[in-house]
Amino acid sequence: TKFSDLKLDPKVLSAVADAGYETPTPIQAGAIPPALEGKDVLGIAQTGTGKTASFTLPMLTLLRRGRARARMPRSLVLCPTRELAAQVAENFDLYAKNTKLTRALLIGGVSFGEQDKLIDKGVDVLIATPGRLLDHFERGKLILTDVKVMVVDEADRMLDMGFIPDIERIFQLTPFTRQTLFFSATMAPEIERITNTFLHAPVRIEV
Ligand code: AMP
Repeated sequence: TKFSDLKLDPKVLSAVADAGYETPTPIQAGAIPPALEGKDVLGIAQTGTGKTASFTLPMLTLLRRGRARARMPRSLVLCPTRELAAQVAENFDLYAKNTKLTRALLIGGVSFGEQDKLIDKGVDVLIATPGRLLDHFERGKLILTDVKVMVVDEADRMLDMGFIPDIERIFQLTPFTRQTLFFSATMAPEIERITNTFLHAPVRIEV
């Protein structure tokens, strides 16, 4: 598979070329086509396999049409730690640089002010830790009814850190019709349960 064989948006494809990527990694070759068809994806992959691009590239392509409205993100990316969320945001900026798509990083340890301003303006993608996302929601700042694509990254670490109830809550706050791209390095029974409950006929890719 070549990147040009994947039906990615040309602006996303040019950013991938600028990043110097020549061929898709196995998780990218496996996850991108079903994601672009609107299917749910269950990716079983470790860090270092290129999994960040495997959800970010199709997400950007799916969101290219349409714009975010105030307080109504169109996509969520949930990460277990601030550090991982910041890395995903860095990747987003790289792959989205030729598009007008916007993102906010919602993590703890910083004041709400800047995050509120971005949410109020309207951002396409919220890249967040689960607790912080729910904090914004509880404060009445966020409307999640327009979420089209929800990504859960490193679900096994979410489990280790006790975030599964938060993830379930966030699933319940987003529309049933959302598309989910769900990634975990391992499939513990609790992870299997969550995916059976909230994913719709996912395409499973194990690398
Ligand atoms: P990740 O597993 O998402 O943390 O990615 C690991 C590293 O691989 C990151 O530094 C990416 O920039 C890089 N990377 C992702 N996809 C590709 C690719 N298709 N070709 C070369 N490098 C890549």
